[in-house]
This record gives sequence, C-alpha cells and structure tokens, in this order.
Amino acid sequence: MAVYAVTGSASGMGAAVVERLTAAGHRVVTVDIAEADVVADLSTPEGRRDATEKVLAACGGRLDGAVLAAGLGPAPGRERPSLITQVNYFGVVELLQGWREALAATGDAKVVVFSSNSSTTMPLVPSRAVAALLAGDAERALKAYRMFGKGAPAMAYGGSKVAVTRWVRRRAVEPEWVRAGIRLNAIAPGAVLTPLLERQLATPEEAKAIRSFPVPAGGYGDPGLLADWVIHMLGPAADFMVGSVVVVDGGTDAWFRADDW
Ligand code: NAD
Repeated sequence: MAVYAVTGSASGMGAAVVERLTAAGHRVVTVDIAEADVVADLSTPEGRRDATEKVLAACGGRLDGAVLAAGLGPAPGRERPSLITQVNYFGVVELLQGWREALAATGDAKVVVFSSNSSTTMPLVPSRAVAALLAGDAERALKAYRMFGKGAPAMAYGGSKVAVTRWVRRRAVEPEWVRAGIRLNAIAPGAVLTPLLERQLATPEEAKAIRSFPVPAGGYGDPGLLADWVIHMLGPAADFMVGSVVVVDGGTDAWFRADDW
C-alpha cells in the first residue's frame, strides 16, 4: 500500500483519481475546499500552509506520490483572475515545495500536476505574467492581465497553466528533486466533461467559445479516462519520465501545432 496526497479530490478528475487509487488498495490523503480529509482553501497563503502541514501530519512525513488537481476554470468575474492565479499556480507550487522532503523520503515518488492544453493553444498569454508568476509575484501577473478587460480570467487561466507547467519542468530536472527519485510530470487535458466544464457550458458566451474550439476526435473527454493516464504516471512506468507533459485533448494541440515540434 502506498500513500498519496490528492488535491481537488472532491470533484471531477481529482475525484476519479482518488477512486482508482483507493480501489487499488492505496491510502489517499484528500485535500479540497470541502468534503476532504484536509479541508483547506488553496486560494490563500494560510490555507496552503494549513494544507501542507496537515497532509504532512497525516502521512507521517512520507509520500509515495501526489496529484495536484485543484483548479478553477476561466469563469467571468472581477476577482476571478486573482483566484485562478492563487489556486492554479500557488496552490500547486507551494504545496509541492512543502511536500518535497516527504516525497524524497520514499526514494521513488511520482507527482502529477494538472496543466491544460490551454498552455499551448491559447494565444496572447502575456509572457511577462508567466515570468512574474515564476518569480513568485502575483501582483505583477495580475497587472498584465488587466488590459484584457473581460478576457482577463481566460488570460489568467492560460497564464497559470503555462507557469505551472514551466515550474514543473524546471524543478523536475533539479538535483534536489530528480536525484531524490521524485518524478515530476504534468498532464494537459483538453475539454473534459467535469463540473468545471459543465459550469462553463452553462454560460452562453463561454459555451460558444468552447464549442468553437477544434476537437478533431469530437465531443469531450471522460474524467475517468484522464484519471487512467494519471494512474499510469504514478506507477513504475514513470521511473524514466521526467518533466514530461502528457497531452490528452482529442487532438486540439496537434490540430493547432502539428509542426511545432
Ligand atoms: P472540478 O471543478 O470538477 O474539480 C476541481 C476541484 O478543485 C474541486 O473539487 C474544487 O472544490 C477544487 N478547488 C477549487 N478551488 C479550490 C480552493 N480554493 N481550495 C481547494 N480546492 C479547490 O474540475 P476538473 O475539471 O476536474 O479540474 C481538475 C484540474 O484539471 C484543474 O486544475 C483544471 O484546471 C484542469 N483542467 C480541466 C479541464 C476540463 O476541461 N475539465 C481541462 C484542462 C485542465
């Protein structure tokens, strides 16, 4: 039996991962804003600290792996860019930094971070916002999104996913992670039918944008199938997988960027 921490465990793809890990006989310490072993609001520094410490206490300082699935979609709203930035970027990197020693303690831990194919297919994501996030400066990133007006939440979403993916790839090859046996990788889903996407589809303007996005395979992804990929990335198949981004999006990324390789 291995011990895993999963954020965003109460819904969608995080919940599907928890279901599979539990069914396989593993122990999972779940983290979410409600209905979890560790109830914490990852949009605040205190909530992130609390989540980090409570998971460490629950797992006895040893983690075989972690899945960072908590995230917010690009819904409209003035406060949204800030919330998206806090949860999707800082809610991943601060927890992983806090768990690094516990992951190192097992010698071959696997980590899967939820990125998105927005990180490669969304145009105009301001590079200075991404640079600001990687430097830990949320305010500077938010300033760069303001000029997009109503489009700011979408830019904050894209920016958070580009930055978190770069953070994963940079840390993945650093000795303190890779030499400690920690395998850091990301999964980049396209449109997957979870409550997050359902909320977006319920808003006419967002639904129009989603439906106009090309998905060569057609339809939406199934959360369980995405979870199957995550489970694979938590197993020995990932021993030699370092800083990889697995795109599972029905072909959208290939449609836009087939030759960008
Ligand atoms: P979901 O809304 O079903 O689940 C997300 C979970 O994150 C929820 O349980 C929610 O409570 C939790 N969460 C949100 N804010 C939180 C906070 N402040 N503190 C603690 N927990 C919080 O969404 P999902 O579609 O399963 O998304 C999982 C991940 O996949 C997210 O990072 C999302 O950005 C990413 N993603 C989703 C899609 C998609 O189409 N569904 C596409 C690409 C990437």
